[in-house]
Amino acid sequence: MGKIKVKNPVVELDGDEMARVIWGWIREELILPYLDIDLVYFDYHLLNRDRTENQVVLDAVEAIKKYRVGAKCAAINPDQARVKEYGLKKAWKSPNSGTRNLIGGTLFRQPIVMKNIPRLVPGWTEPIVVARHGFGDLFGGADFDLPPGGSKVLLRQIPHDGSKPVEIEVCDIAGAGAALGIFNTEESVRGFALSCMNFGLQRGYPVYLGTKNTELEHYDGLFKNIFQDVYDTRFRERFEAGGIHYEHRMVDELAAFAIKSSGGFVWACKNYDGDILSDVVAAGFGSLGLMASMLLTPDGKTVLTEAAHGTITRHFREHQAGRETSTNPVASIFAWTRAVYYRGLFDGTPGVQAFAAALEQACTDTVEAGDMTKDLATLTGGTSWLTTRQFLAKIRAALDRKLSTQG
Ligand code: NAP
Ligand code: MG
Repeated sequence: MGKIKVKNPVVELDGDEMARVIWGWIREELILPYLDIDLVYFDYHLLNRDRTENQVVLDAVEAIKKYRVGAKCAAINPDQARVKEYGLKKAWKSPNSGTRNLIGGTLFRQPIVMKNIPRLVPGWTEPIVVARHGFGDLFGGADFDLPPGGSKVLLRQIPHDGSKPVEIEVCDIAGAGAALGIFNTEESVRGFALSCMNFGLQRGYPVYLGTKNTELEHYDGLFKNIFQDVYDTRFRERFEAGGIHYEHRMVDELAAFAIKSSGGFVWACKNYDGDILSDVVAAGFGSLGLMASMLLTPDGKTVLTEAAHGTITRHFREHQAGRETSTNPVASIFAWTRAVYYRGLFDGTPGVQAFAAALEQACTDTVEAGDMTKDLATLTGGTSWLTTRQFLAKIRAALDRKLSTQG
């Protein structure tokens, strides 16, 4: 069978440690033998970031903006221990949040559901995709102590157009305490809403936004109103045509609904809510090795895919010592397949999208046939498992079977 031609390039960001080892195996065994694809390669290996003084991150971001599809391997975010270990010039800023912030957009965390892998929430038979707004909220606020002698706290808003300042009282208290001022911008919330709606549309999932607009009429109201406006003016028709919908719910009701649901939706979260709920949902689905992640820009036209886990240092130490590991490559495979899927979507090449779907299905078929790595085997109560390479070979065989029956 000939290779499938991929029209435009995919930007590849290589990474560190065990994640890098697996990443390379996937490229060589599951991607390049099947796709005629131009990979625009950038190496985020810690030593290369050190050598280029992080210029490689800036260059990679330019390439992603140009080609619109990137796939990223996990990379070390160096602390002082890493500076010593690798003999670095300094503790360079995170290449992970660094890359995402320079591209902009919303991060979507997507669990990969396998029928035979037990979930802490057994009813979740479809993924719950948590979309976390990455701007402002409790993380962008002014946070300060109130002294024991008591104080009054005021918020003062001074309009740039010279009109009269507005002042409101936050509190007037006798003892010690703390206070906080937070904000958001219409522009950022609109971009967030657009990313969420585009993601829902592209993946065929309904979108829910949870807020407490009854309490926070203005702050949460901003989110509620902008989402509704974006939906009504730009997405409603296409959502309805696709049999999906958007809905605002009270965040506490939405949380209860999510637990009772069978999944299969996008949960749009404000920044702080998303910090908590993305970890709650990840725990509910069970394994870091089955959690994919994707950044999508507001216009829905640029994506960066990755696995949610890190570089899996402990396994790398085993690998360095010459021992086989049983590391789960599925989330990294999905970083590759989602990038290929979006490349096909943007290029209008359904054959390329079908390959991505076939490789994802090959992962699911393999695990559901009982062939798995240690992390998954232990979740199912199993006492034996495959090495990383044996597992990849099973996936490749499943892929070959799939492609030969597709013709
Ligand atoms: P980690 O790499 O996610 O690994 C933590 C533990 O989770 C592993 O030791 C392993 O548990 C388990 N695990 C994670 N992924 C697995 C997989 N695919 N298969 C099997 N088990 C898996 O987190 P970390 O050890 O805290 O971080 C290591 C490095 O990664 C750090 O330098 C950090 O900066 C970086 N990091 C990068 C990203 C990113 O690139 N986006 C994200 C997070 C962390 P067992 O040891 O029990 O087997
Ligand atoms: Mg968190």
